[in-house]
Amino acid sequence: MIEVGYDYPLYRPPSEANSAIFQVTLGCSFNKCSFCNMYRTKEYSERPWEEIKTEVDIISKSYPQTDKVFLADGDALNLSTERLIQILMYVKEKFPNLKRISCYAMPKNLLQKSSDELTLLNREGLNMLYVGIETGHDVLLKKITKGATSKSIIEGCNRAKKSGFIISCMIILGIGGKKYSVEHMKETARVVSEVSPNFLAALTLILEDGVYDEFMQKFGEPFEHLDDSSILDELEILVNGITPASSIVFRANHASNVYSVGGNLPEDKEKMILLIRRLKQHPELLKPKVLRRF
Ligand code: SF4
Repeated sequence: MIEVGYDYPLYRPPSEANSAIFQVTLGCSFNKCSFCNMYRTKEYSERPWEEIKTEVDIISKSYPQTDKVFLADGDALNLSTERLIQILMYVKEKFPNLKRISCYAMPKNLLQKSSDELTLLNREGLNMLYVGIETGHDVLLKKITKGATSKSIIEGCNRAKKSGFIISCMIILGIGGKKYSVEHMKETARVVSEVSPNFLAALTLILEDGVYDEFMQKFGEPFEHLDDSSILDELEILVNGITPASSIVFRANHASNVYSVGGNLPEDKEKMILLIRRLKQHPELLKPKVLRRF
């Protein structure tokens, strides 16, 4: 990661490890998902143009060969289309070798923009969006206060895809606890199939201290955490249930996961299911709990 004077904490997707990161917004404009501790210490704000421009100038002088840029923090897509285009145009001008500009986006951000605006942003160089789906189950989306429904997730993501974006989605294993486990996965597989994102990452729920009580309170009923075997059951239902319209690069290799599983869906479905079943029979192969983090 190429550094300037960041306002911490700073988050970026694992695949942006070598990108230049510009904080065009600070925090998350929603900041209410009950499982998410990322920006609880920050109030959402939009950085002034002059500050962004200065940081682009500094980084472009030091790292003129930069080919990937990530716009932080939690939902840069919340910026007005005009401001985003101003940023995209300047970034493209200063980094002539640029191959990709990306940011996080919520379904709400996607639906706030018209298809024409999204197409324009895509043409101006914003080509990849990371969207947290978490679950496709409407009961759970309410319980985790995601601020989205399965319908808005599908609509938002499909609008972005039609506008030319590469979409990378995240879901969270274990977020429904024992009671909602099967429905969580069936509904998530349904939503993922309807969206058919280019990339899909499965993380595993680990509640940090800062949000533990809030998560439990908002859940509204006793929450029973899943053990490793049940997490693998969820993974199997998910992989088995996804029937995408186009190929999805699937990864469950996040630091929170019990084991790294990955492949293309639907092509590698059988291979992944065999691996998951083998892992269930050999718990000694799973990642030790101390090495897992969200
Ligand atoms: S999960 Fe995303 S949308 Fe929800 S509070 Fe965290 S950063 Fe914001």
